[in-house]
Amino acid sequence: MVGMAIRAGDTMKYDGFNYSFTPKELWFLLFGKKVCPRCGNVLVKHKGFRELMGRDLNEGSGDPFFVPQSRIKDYEYTFYCDRCDASFFLSDLR
Ligand SMILES: [Zn+2]
Repeated sequence: MVGMAIRAGDTMKYDGFNYSFTPKELWFLLFGKKVCPRCGNVLVKHKGFRELMGRDLNEGSGDPFFVPQSRIKDYEYTFYCDRCDASFFLSDLR
């Protein structure tokens, strides 16, 4: 997991952000061939996010990193195939 936290001013909605990749997913994001697993069409990359609390991200890690009550933007990439009208997460692609 790759984590980062930034203290933001009071006007900001989020207290930090996070990217979660396994090493394999990160490799794929950088070097992998982004083609549809169903039809082989080239996929379009979208960067999305979901809102998590710091305590959600601390779960499972022995060393709590985020302030539990902080609002964190958790980024995730999705890949869209316009031929199949389907989207895939990094974890779906190899
Ligand atoms: Zn497809």
